[in-house]
Amino acid sequence: MPISGSPIPIRSISDLATLTSYTDEALIALDTLAGRATGLMSPSLRLGVTGLSRAGKTVFISSLVHNLVHGGRLPLFEAQKSGRIARAFLEEQPDDAVPRFQYEDHISALLESRLWPDSTRAISELRLTIEYESASGWSRLFSRGKLSLDIVDYPGEWLLDLPLLGKSYTTFSAEAFEMAVHDVRADLSQPWRDLSATVDATAPADEMMARALAESFATYLKACKDDQRALSTLPPGRFLMPGDLEGSPALTFAPLPGLGEGRTKPGSLHAMMERRYEAYKTHVIKPFFREHIARLDRQIVLIDAMQALNAGPGAVADLERAVMEILACFRPGRGSFLTDLFARRIDRILIAATKADHLHHESHDRLQAIVRRLADRAVDRASFSGAKVDVLAMAAIRATREGTVKQGRETLPVIIGTPLAGETIGGEKFDGETETAVFPGDLPKNINALFDQDGEPSTDRALRFVRFRPPRLEKTAEGLTLSLPHIRLDRALQFLIGDHLA
Ligand code: GDP
Repeated sequence: MPISGSPIPIRSISDLATLTSYTDEALIALDTLAGRATGLMSPSLRLGVTGLSRAGKTVFISSLVHNLVHGGRLPLFEAQKSGRIARAFLEEQPDDAVPRFQYEDHISALLESRLWPDSTRAISELRLTIEYESASGWSRLFSRGKLSLDIVDYPGEWLLDLPLLGKSYTTFSAEAFEMAVHDVRADLSQPWRDLSATVDATAPADEMMARALAESFATYLKACKDDQRALSTLPPGRFLMPGDLEGSPALTFAPLPGLGEGRTKPGSLHAMMERRYEAYKTHVIKPFFREHIARLDRQIVLIDAMQALNAGPGAVADLERAVMEILACFRPGRGSFLTDLFARRIDRILIAATKADHLHHESHDRLQAIVRRLADRAVDRASFSGAKVDVLAMAAIRATREGTVKQGRETLPVIIGTPLAGETIGGEKFDGETETAVFPGDLPKNINALFDQDGEPSTDRALRFVRFRPPRLEKTAEGLTLSLPHIRLDRALQFLIGDHLA
């Protein structure tokens, strides 16, 4: 079945035009003025880094900063290649209320322990200042250029909450039930749907019942994130990534079945759930949008395409839907009052499939073609325009190197790395210390099959991958540790910030 025939309601960008109230817009306007005022003092660029959990945000930021600070190999990043970057260093971030991205801890885990760092669980920020020589003789006359890059790391799950602002509790409930019976989710949602079927929405509000429903709903959403399924679109985002709201009553609600548009009975379970849903919109989603999303200049959206490809066409369709919804969040409908109030408009978005080091380089272009296809369809369906969107297959940190293995007469391309302790291939279990050559399998030539939900089931797909430990970094003769190896991180940098260092 083609994805466009999917019964899941597709929202358009125009839905987002009506999301904010007058006060929100006034607040955004104030933030904008403040932002412009500081922008005059020293040019800054706010780069949003998002993606669903485990997509690779923490690893991407750590590697990007490490490579810039330590002058890594970045031949496709023009300013670095031409030797115009004088230095890059960390500075105090401008927003005191936002936690700092724990760069030093992450780098120490990666380099000293060869462990992957703790993943993103909430928003954080880091300021990297780059001093550079301008490429133009005219600009060089005045002074050395300086750009403050404010990197904002936040869970994609939170972003996917934005469409809820345009939805009543009744619509949210109806859509949640509609989505839950979709093939790939039906069995996972069964216990929650069974429990929901036993409740009477008009009965008096009952805290224990509200809690049981919220927990059962959250369990279903979490199960959708399981490795085998790899499903992507799962609002409300804080049910998966609660941040500092863990255990808070703001999260004790769930959709209810069979609600009409009529008046809600005061004191009922329905009224209680509706009030909490509205509170979630007002106190969680809106401030997040206003304080963070509306102030971004550039955005990278990381996706774990390989996990979705492994899980099959249902997961790929789901990922495509998530990318579409993410894109829609960055561009409110044209002509909306809100559009003018976007502090700075996001003008470039990079959709990047990470972890390309799990594939042999022969498959990198194929992976990129898959992401392009996915992004193009998402751009079309979100009727998205105005920002430049590019796609990339990359690895922020390359954990493997390439080689070949002779099998009979055939020479097979392999990747070589240290599989994480506990990973298995063909019954062999790894200890986390032994370096191993792995035949990663090929991505199919025929991309269509990947997007065809009626296609082959996921169990006999060619692609299987194990997770590797971060690489061991060589030291130079002088004892200096070399910078983190990567695949195409330089291309990502060129697209995201290259023009600001011209
Ligand atoms: P986040 O939830 O988006 O912050 O995800 P992380 O950055 O913590 O990445 C999740 C996991 O994906 C890591 O622990 C690594 O196992 C893996 N990973 C992320 N980026 C890369 C990469 O570039 N190469 C490899 N081999 N693995 C990666």
